[in-house]
Amino acid sequence: MKKRYSGFLTTVLACFLFCFSGLSFEANAQKKKSKTKDGTTATSDKGSIEAALNEAYTKYKDLKEGKNADYIPELAKVPSEQFAIVIVTTDGQVFSKGDIDALFSIQSISKVITLARNIEDHGAQAIQDKIGVDPTGEKFNSAVIVENKKGKEINPLVNAGAIASTSMIKGKDYNEKWNTIMQVHNDFAGRQLAVNDPVYKSEAATNQHNQALASLMNSFERMYFDPPQSVDIYTKQCAINVNTKDLAQMAATFANGGTNPVTKKKVVSPQTVAHTLPVMATCGLYDDSGIWFYNVGLPAKSGVGGGIIAVVPGQYGIAAFSPRLDEAGNSVRAQKAITDIVNKLNLNPYLVQPK
Ligand code: GLN
Repeated sequence: MKKRYSGFLTTVLACFLFCFSGLSFEANAQKKKSKTKDGTTATSDKGSIEAALNEAYTKYKDLKEGKNADYIPELAKVPSEQFAIVIVTTDGQVFSKGDIDALFSIQSISKVITLARNIEDHGAQAIQDKIGVDPTGEKFNSAVIVENKKGKEINPLVNAGAIASTSMIKGKDYNEKWNTIMQVHNDFAGRQLAVNDPVYKSEAATNQHNQALASLMNSFERMYFDPPQSVDIYTKQCAINVNTKDLAQMAATFANGGTNPVTKKKVVSPQTVAHTLPVMATCGLYDDSGIWFYNVGLPAKSGVGGGIIAVVPGQYGIAAFSPRLDEAGNSVRAQKAITDIVNKLNLNPYLVQPK
């Protein structure tokens, strides 16, 4: 009896503490976002976002480290000087700096968009079972990882897993699958996108390695549609043209629980986002995913076209574009710019001051 009574008291106390801490958390959140009456971000926040963008842009504008991807011949021709940074807030504001009209191929960033569609349509468990969600620690186009684990326990953000992910997209044939992929990219970006035909053709003519990956995956029964057609859809999805604002809006859609903050269209559910972001956090920058997460603490995804997106859940989508890549295949200036902005705006969720 006594025990029951003290149990009751503990419950009351726990509820009280929970509500109280919930309230103060809410108050802090309000303070941090410092919203104006009409719900837009306060001017001081605008000022600091603009300052952070300007500072990062100026600091890295002339940096020439790294080089364009050239294993896809068309990517070597992209002007290396191009540099842009964009932030889209979850209340739909856009801040941008640099070559924001430059179009470039989305490349591997498409892998997270396709993944999100698949989680939405098939459920999180299906992706875990049919592809895997474990970082490989190897190069993005590694065949060894497929051979070693018989196509299991890889992830949808390395090429082998991404081609399997494309093969899983809903649709009875090539066209239906392609239309689904194009549509979800459009919805994330908030506008009608198009394929960069020269990049698509250039990669289609030189993607024997990806074809081999698909065959190898197929030999372990880890492909879910015709392998050559899946590779072709995958190659086309990587060639979708975007600008840096499109990427930031995609990232902001993830930051906003799957609803595009500019168009207000619900693209995927909050649950889907909650499963997609951890894969980005652990696998988003290939074999440098650990280094990125160690230093920045945010889920991000890169592409060999030079784009990178980073997601600040509940707050911002950040994107940067610069074609010169490091050894791992990640844009040098985009990584540096986003890292500086995250530090400047205090966006690393693991950096918490003691109470
Ligand atoms: N289309 C590219 C490929 O398959 C994408 C790679 C990337 O962006 N890392 O090689």
